[in-house]
Amino acid sequence: MVLGTYKEAISARATDKAIQNVAQDGGIVTALLSYALEEKIIEGAVVAGPGEEEWKPEPLVAMTPEELISAAGTKYTFSPNVWMLKEAVRQYGLEKVGTVGIPCQLMGIRKMQSYPFGTRFIADKLALIVGIFCMENFPRASLETFVDEKMNSSLESVEKMDIGMGKFIVNTQDDELNIPLKETHGYEQAGCNVCKDYTAELADVSTGSVGSPAGWSTVLTRTDTGASIFKDAVDAGIIETKSMDDVKPGLGLLEKLSTSKKDKSQKEIDKRRDMGLPVPF
Ligand code: FAD
Ligand code: SF4
Repeated sequence: MVLGTYKEAISARATDKAIQNVAQDGGIVTALLSYALEEKIIEGAVVAGPGEEEWKPEPLVAMTPEELISAAGTKYTFSPNVWMLKEAVRQYGLEKVGTVGIPCQLMGIRKMQSYPFGTRFIADKLALIVGIFCMENFPRASLETFVDEKMNSSLESVEKMDIGMGKFIVNTQDDELNIPLKETHGYEQAGCNVCKDYTAELADVSTGSVGSPAGWSTVLTRTDTGASIFKDAVDAGIIETKSMDDVKPGLGLLEKLSTSKKDKSQKEIDKRRDMGLPVPF
């Protein structure tokens, strides 16, 4: 299946206005982790915290809904959340840990859980893994180039970044600036060109914007754990939902983009293999 194995696809958003105001899309990541925290399903969650420098995220072990809110929003550069899982268990003493990650991070986490040589003390403590869709990622220096050089602005003044409608978009306090994605492709992390997973296929619950209207998220529940926590959060009124059949552009667009990522990366993998280079699959 092009979207991986999932139980239910649904459009959703957090009902809490405080989350809506800071979230990247429907605030599903923050709402779900907050719900899990408040219900004691997890004791803390490793998220991409704001860090000391603008748009240079640093992993944070969030122990309160307020800390989760401080980490909301997408940072289009790497945040080493997986590394922080060890700290969450060893330094913070957490027995039940939640986290959020991009698809490649979840590959590492699931591999570690499958072959926990020397990592059993982390593997058994992961109680909720939320995955976010990901088409590409950038070194922070690339973000600086887009904003400083291509948009004549500065990273410090950027309040939100987004990718949509074929553009890389930034919002400052009084402006919206963008550049076409064809100008950003050359700046992507090289590994992204051989990555086949768009929808975080190994998560308990995956979410992203594609498929749903602005301010809403597309959610794929994948595991029994993920489906049950998501359902309970909906029943508790933390998250509201709409059928994917009732929203535009709908699941078809997600399937199209996921197929295109898999096809494109396979071509690159074949090309690298023909050149005698090491390939991941
Ligand atoms: P929020 O409630 O705003 O919370 C976002 C959570 O993600 C926070 O906990 C935050 O700490 C964490 N986070 C932010 N940045 C990172 C990061 N770099 N690494 C790990 N965790 C992070 N969605 C699509 O539909 N299509 C795409 O092509 C797409 N590409 C993406 C590329 C990247 C590099 C990233 C990081 C995300 C991408 N997304 C994409 C996901 C999308 O931008 C949102 O993150 C997702 O919809 C969750 O929104 P939300 O409102 O539920 O999350
Ligand atoms: Fe990771 Fe793949 Fe996203 Fe690149 S495209 S950041 S390799 S999940």
